Amino acid sequence: MSGLFFCSFMSKPLFAANWKMYRSYAQTIEQCKKDLDLLRRLGANATIDVALLPSTDALSAVGQIVAATGIYLGAQDCSAHDLGAYTGQVAAQSLRELGCSFVIIGHSERRAASDTDEIIAQKVGQAFKAGLAPIICIGEPEAVYNLGQTQQFLTKQLQALQSILSAHTTHHFNIAYEPVWAIGSGKTPTPPEISNTISCIRNFLETEIGSSQFRILYGGSVNQKNAGELKNIEPFEGFLVGKASLDIQEFAHIINMIE
Ligand code: PEP
Repeated sequence: MSGLFFCSFMSKPLFAANWKMYRSYAQTIEQCKKDLDLLRRLGANATIDVALLPSTDALSAVGQIVAATGIYLGAQDCSAHDLGAYTGQVAAQSLRELGCSFVIIGHSERRAASDTDEIIAQKVGQAFKAGLAPIICIGEPEAVYNLGQTQQFLTKQLQALQSILSAHTTHHFNIAYEPVWAIGSGKTPTPPEISNTISCIRNFLETEIGSSQFRILYGGSVNQKNAGELKNIEPFEGFLVGKASLDIQEFAHIINMIE
């Protein structure tokens, strides 16, 4: 889905499926075709936003398959640069032209690979310029969580975004709070812990930056067993789901838990 989707979407919860590089191109297409009826049903639910974020190679084909279903398309990363001599990179502008509405930026797997706070801020700028809504991932490592210093850690990650977000206060974006230790581990913070952390993030975005056009998602080991409990996060604005979203039936179950 492309076009003028920004008018009302921020008021709905977003369920975003980060398929990472779990599947090949052919496997991704096969899965989407197999579950197309279910995807149509998810996309037709006007009370939520659903986005598929396949690997870059599959964006065009997945976009064609889900065209006119109401499902949004998103990418997992973009270049920090304008069009130019950047071998192997993909411009935010190209992602928009491919039909993407969203792009994940600053996922902990990208941060671990090479993305610094400065690069992440540049990527967010590119996403805004291209008309994409970034899903900006922030989250603390386990040692920081154990020391009870999550909020200080996240505040530093947000401070690194302060200048770019302040310059784009009318643009829509999403923050995905993803504790690094929760990703792919089967472990999660409790809903009250997540609610507290989300409230701290919201406070920073509203008072220090002056943003209002954002959603705060939770991500990290969400699955069909814990989704019901995790929906008790206050306020609940959506999930970024990795492994469990590969099975579209399970992804649908996670989504239905909150309806
Ligand atoms: C993620 O990597 O964004 C994620 C949430 O992964 P998982 O659901 O597999 O923990």
